[in-house]
Amino acid sequence: MRGQPNTTIDGKTIQVYANIGGPQDIGLVQQNDAGGVGLFRSEFVYLNSRDYPTEEEQFNAYRLAVETLAPKLVVIRTCDIGADISARELHECKELLAECTKELEDKGVQIGKYQVGIMIETPAAVLVADSLAEDCDFFSIGTNDLTQYTLAIDRQNASLDSFLDTHHPAVLREIQMTIEAGHRHGIWVGICGELGADRSLTGTFLRMGIDELSVNPVSVLPLRKLIRDTDLRKPP
Ligand code: PEP
Ligand code: MG
Repeated sequence: MRGQPNTTIDGKTIQVYANIGGPQDIGLVQQNDAGGVGLFRSEFVYLNSRDYPTEEEQFNAYRLAVETLAPKLVVIRTCDIGADISARELHECKELLAECTKELEDKGVQIGKYQVGIMIETPAAVLVADSLAEDCDFFSIGTNDLTQYTLAIDRQNASLDSFLDTHHPAVLREIQMTIEAGHRHGIWVGICGELGADRSLTGTFLRMGIDELSVNPVSVLPLRKLIRDTDLRKPP
């Protein structure tokens, strides 16, 4: 499967990227021939150090991933340790990016092209996805959190696991709504939660129009095989 496109028999191509938890996983992205990194969980820089990580430490970790994998896309998630998920942060983040871009340009540093995306992982974000899409370049659906917030099932509470129906129609409907909202605004939509690697749903996601699935590196090639064996003209 290495080197093959993620294209169905009837010609639909999507991106299959990998989720990584730190620079130590960059080799796995290459070994498994992922098309890029759909989720670089940046929390590791906080969890691995006793103090707040410096800007330089973070810069070096992200640079390693971006340079090693170039020209592949690397989606770096801003620190996601608390449960603070809202539109205001997107605007603040974009202001900071503009400020940093100007600072670097003033110093004569050339800025490459970058995209700004957000994770969709609350029902509220799904409901206002149309307005969020106006301010970003892509959506990445975090199905782990989206499922817990939709079904009101704390994902950290193991005694509730039997209630955690990851295929619940409400979650699937939210994924569909997010894809439709993104596409209405011309932006791409991916899934980076565990559900993206659930091969019993790959056909469903393809039919919904998903653009990208970001999964554990070892799931990339089995997922590619399944996509390549799928014919969307046949009934599901
Ligand atoms: C998610 O919520 O689906 C996700 C990818 O983020 P995390 O698992 O890190 O919360
Ligand atoms: Mg999450």
